[in-house]
Amino acid sequence: MKHQDGEAWCRKHLADQELYQLLEKVDLDLAEAARWAGCRHCGGKVHRADYERKPRGGPHWDQRFSFCCAQEGCRRRCTPASVRFLGRRVYAAVVVVLVSAMVHGLSADRVRWLREWLGIDGRTLGRWRHWWLETFRRSRFWKAARARFLPPVEERTLPWSLCLRFVTERRDRLLDLLGFLAPLCGPVVGPVS
Ligand SMILES: [Zn+2]
Repeated sequence: MKHQDGEAWCRKHLADQELYQLLEKVDLDLAEAARWAGCRHCGGKVHRADYERKPRGGPHWDQRFSFCCAQEGCRRRCTPASVRFLGRRVYAAVVVVLVSAMVHGLSADRVRWLREWLGIDGRTLGRWRHWWLETFRRSRFWKAARARFLPPVEERTLPWSLCLRFVTERRDRLLDLLGFLAPLCGPVVGPVS
């Protein structure tokens, strides 16, 4: 795929309201599964205990689905995986992935567009880039997961190279990519800012 096509693909998904609705549904399913599974520590019942998130850029999601164990003496928090929120990032996962993928060969034009449309500045982009190239690349998750890609994913151009493995016109392929990354986004134990 040519880079320009890839960029168009990214922009299209970033503006896709139906995609955001779909992601919310997937997260609801993940939450429902977590509720049925119960507490991972003691097997007890869990209660809904969502916490507030205010991701910037993209849809106005403000609740991260989460649960608390109802068992006296345990009471631990259990936060299911999410296709909407990427770890502790304040931007929606889809925005972090697509925007980070777009920034290879960053032009002044593109930076201006990102700043005006999504309110993402150069410093934030730099932090995301660092996260992909250092934190993500060295994560246990990626070390285990990269083996399933053949030929291997070019790590110096993450996450663009990873997107390429999922890029097609079909929306559900993007969903596959976010689903692939979802274990990074939970379960989270303890309070999360
Ligand atoms: Zn428990």
